[in-house]
Formats: sequence, structure tokens, C-alpha cells
Amino acid sequence: MNDKYTAERILWIHPWAPNLFSFRLTRHPGFRFVPGQFARLGVKKPDPDNPKNPSGEKIVWRAYSVVSADYDEHLEFYSIVVPGGEFTSELARLAVGDTVYVEKTPYGFLTTDRFENGKDLWLLATGTGLAPFVSMLWDFRNWEDYENLIVVHSVRYPNELAYAETIAGFRTHEVFAPLAHKLRYVPVITRARVDGALGERIPTLIDTGALEQAAGVKLDHERSRIMICGNPEMVDDTRKHLTALGFAMSRRGKPGHMAVENYW
Ligand code: NAP
Repeated sequence: MNDKYTAERILWIHPWAPNLFSFRLTRHPGFRFVPGQFARLGVKKPDPDNPKNPSGEKIVWRAYSVVSADYDEHLEFYSIVVPGGEFTSELARLAVGDTVYVEKTPYGFLTTDRFENGKDLWLLATGTGLAPFVSMLWDFRNWEDYENLIVVHSVRYPNELAYAETIAGFRTHEVFAPLAHKLRYVPVITRARVDGALGERIPTLIDTGALEQAAGVKLDHERSRIMICGNPEMVDDTRKHLTALGFAMSRRGKPGHMAVENYW
């Protein structure tokens, strides 16, 4: 036992595309988090020929947003495999039953308590940046607090639209179905033309009004609360476009319209 982290076991691995997969870990009963937060995960790697480390092994750590609900027994995560990446290529080699270490403390401020009095919660993601938003969708309070939950997922190719079925599944879910009219899912595919998906980057879709049209909801200073997560350039560009439209970042002690998280 270590006082900083626990050793957990991989329960399930789900590949979405050659470089994208989700996995579930056992969850230590003491690990508590707020939907939108991330955990720090560690995997053991060989560390040969290091005179300072006679064990011949080291643990490398990365931050991963939790995908699963705060009430689930397991912890689910969504990962890209970065070619040659120290962490993700090691993680991708692991199998069900293998060990992943989880720091005991959750991190991050991409949580809905950053906002006040919103009516429409916009969740703008690229790639694996969708992860914290899926956890938020499993939080029933968000369905009660908001009139509309708008999930926008921008990916390069259609096979990267992970969790599309999970999101569609809320419509028939026994708990969420009565509120399912609140959910708007807007897939965006930028490098292939696909019916039913928008085809341009999120900032462009904001500027042209195509995003509001697809969602059937207007961006509005009184109503909109906007979270942005994923590719750091997308986060930055989107934040700038929204700032130009008069939306403000939420600050500590000063709730605004936007909260953001860079993914790398
Ligand atoms: P991505 O390049 O992040 O693209 C995902 C979506 O974001 C695409 O629709 C893309 O549109 C859009 N996008 C990219 N830049 C944008 C911008 N400035 N404004 C608006 N939208 C933008 O691709 P990915 O497959 O999700 O991620 C792959 C890349 O991310 C790799 O380079 C990988 O190494 C890196 N990555 C690293 C880590 C890490 O932990 N080190 C984690 C995740 C990802 P376009 O098709 O028009 O570009």
C-alpha cells in the first residue's frame, strides 16, 4: 500500500478505432470525484540501466478525465494512442487483469459548479476531450438544472465518434428518458463528408451560426454556460471566438459563461 496511490485492475477494454480505446478499472472505495474531474493514472515501465533505480522499473503518470458516473463501481477512461508516447503506448499494451495505479486525489476544475443560473449547458469537445462530458451526462443533477444539454463532438473521421451510442442511449434509458428531450447531440466530422454531421471546425460553426442551427438552441449571454475541452488550439480558438461575442471565462469567485480544459 502506498499513501499517494492505489493499485487497480483493468476490468474491460474497448477499442473504438485503431488509435482510440476506452478501459475500465476497479475503483478504490475511497476514490471520490466530481464529474468533469480527472485522475492521475500510472503504468509500470522497464527502467533498465538506471543506477539510481535498482528496481529496473518506474511508474509513468498521466492525467485522464473520468468518463464514468460518480456513482459507478468502476472508473472508465478514454484514451488516444500517441505513436511512440511514453504513457499511452505502454497503456495500450496492457490487458484485462493488468495493474494501473490511480492517485488517491482527483484533480481539475471543469465542473458545473463553476457556473450559476444557466439554462443551456454547451459541452464542446474534440477527440478524447469528450470524456469529462460523458461523466457529466451521467449526473442527473445536470438534467434537472438545465433546460438543454448540447454535446458537440468534433473528430477527424467518422469512426472516431466514440460514445455516440452511449449518448443516443440516454433517450431510452429508464432514468434519463423522461428528460431526454433536453439532450442535443451535434457530431462534427472535419475530414470526411458524412450525412448527419457538420463538417467544419467548431469556431467556424459558431461564427456562421451553423452550430446554433444544428443544436436548435441560440448562444445567449443569459442562458448559455459553455465548457470546452480537447485539442489546446481548438480550446484557445473557440474561447477567443466566444470572447469576441461577449462571453466571459468563469473565474474563482466570479462565475462567468465559459470553463475550459486543455488535453495536452
Ligand atoms: P485533433 O487534431 O485534435 O482533431 C480532432 C478534432 O479537432 C478535428 O475535428 C479537428 O479538425 C479539430 N481541431 C483541431 N484543431 C482545431 C482548432 N484549432 N480549432 C478547432 N478545431 C480543431 O485530432 P485527435 O485525433 O483527436 O488527436 C490527435 C492529435 O492529438 C495527435 O497529434 C496526438 O498526438 C495529440 N494528442 C496528444 C495527447 C497527449 O496526451 N499527448 C492526447 C490526445 C491527443 P481538423 O480535422 O480540421 O484538424
